[in-house]
This record gives sequence, C-alpha cells and structure tokens, in this order.
Amino acid sequence: MFAALSQNGIVGRAFAGDLFKLNFHNPRDFTTDNYRRIDDKTFGGGAGMVMKIEPLEKSLHEAHKIQKEQGVKNSLVIYMSPQGKKVDQKVINQLSTYDGIIIVSGRYEGVDERFIERNVDIELSVGDFVVSGGEIPAMLVIDGIVRQIPGSMNSMESVEHDSFMNGLLDCPHYAAPRNYEGSIVPDELLSGDHEKIRKWRLQQSLWRTYQRRPDLLADKQLTKEQSRLLEEMISRNKI
Ligand code: SAH
Repeated sequence: MFAALSQNGIVGRAFAGDLFKLNFHNPRDFTTDNYRRIDDKTFGGGAGMVMKIEPLEKSLHEAHKIQKEQGVKNSLVIYMSPQGKKVDQKVINQLSTYDGIIIVSGRYEGVDERFIERNVDIELSVGDFVVSGGEIPAMLVIDGIVRQIPGSMNSMESVEHDSFMNGLLDCPHYAAPRNYEGSIVPDELLSGDHEKIRKWRLQQSLWRTYQRRPDLLADKQLTKEQSRLLEEMISRNKI
C-alpha cells in the first residue's frame, strides 16, 4: 500500500533522495503460532476481531531497535484511530520536530486496548469518519510531515504560503492561458508589480478565510495591514 506514497510525487522524490527513511514492520512476522494469527475474537463476545497485543508489541520493539540503529534520538509512537486527536497543520508541524516517529496502523475493530495504554504516546484521527485500516491515515500524516523537510519541495516558499501555515487559507492560483474561453486571470497577478501582487494575494487569503473558515480567523491576531485589507474587502462586497 505504501508504494502509493514512496513512489510518487514530492514524497516519492524525497524518499528516493534519502531525505527520510521508511521502515515497515508486519506484526504477522512476529507471531509464534502455526497460523500466524494477528487477530482474535473480542472478549465479551460480539462481531469483529481485534489485533492481538503480542505481535504488535514485538513489532514495536523491532521498530524502536531499528530507529536506534539509524540514530533516531527523539521518537514518538502514534496510533492512528478515529478516537484520536484530529490531525491539523499544527499537529503536523509539531510532529515535524521529531527525528523519528513510529505509526501503528490498526485493522479489524482496532488493537487490544492494553497495547495503547502500554506503548502509545498519542492517538491521531484524520477526521470523524471510519475507514477500514490505519495505513491510509498514516500515509496522510507522513505526507504532511515530509513536505516540510527542507529540500523535499522545489521551493520552501510555497510551503509557507500553503493553507493553514500562517493561520489562513491559501489564495487562488492561475496558470496559462490568461484568457480561457472568456474566463480571465485577475489583472493584479499580471501587473508584474510585486507589492501589488503580494497585497492582492494576502487580501484574497483573508477574504477566503473569512468566508469559508471564520473559525480560523477567530484564533488569529491580524496585523494592521491584514485588518485593513480584510475590512476593505468586506465593505466592497456589501455594496
Ligand atoms: N472500531 C474502531 C474502528 C476500527 S477501524 C472504532 O470505532 O474506534 C480499523 C482501523 O482503521 C483503526 O484501528 C485505525 O487504525 C484505522 N482508522 C479508522 N478510521 C480512522 C480515522 N478516522 N483516523 C485514523 N485512523 C483510522
């Protein structure tokens, strides 16, 4: 499944360029019974299987061991779970400060609760919906972190302007042609005047955030320039 991540796009390039390492540990390799079972019935009865604690914990020990060999000093153990803290850019930025992370992906009904109690530092959710495995949620988190590694993007400047990085949504973007069946690119972007373009983009960012995500603005202290640009937009749109 992780080939989707490691063989494509920005993350794929960063992986090929050795900007980060991915190690995989399959709990099935740490089973001791003939059937190599990693799941069992849930105690108390009812439908659904649970991932057993032993193979999980052995996988985790292996993951810790390999991280140590690779020189990782501060590491964090994450369990992907719909019951966890919701992932946002702040969470990703915090995770980016670790030099290694271990992500546990569940399957079935999830993992034995004792595994979480004994080993997990933080549970993370990708949203209030349930998917069938933790792998895709884990890939979302990895992608979010990797695009912050210096050198992974062609320009770190584009990361800084991304939505949420400065508490605002990104401005709209356009590419050639200038006129597509009568739909035209805003004049400001074609003006060649850097200051004008900067102001236009900032104003668009503020306006979009105001319209689409007022909750983000409530958390943000606007600068004088930002307040002025936003107010100008608000009054312009009242007319
Ligand atoms: N019975 C569990 C859901 C199990 S889904 C519950 O209701 O809490 C199987 C696995 O998919 C989980 O162990 C978890 O690793 C992953 N998963 C499902 N939804 C997720 C979400 N929103 N965020 C992160 N991981 C999720």
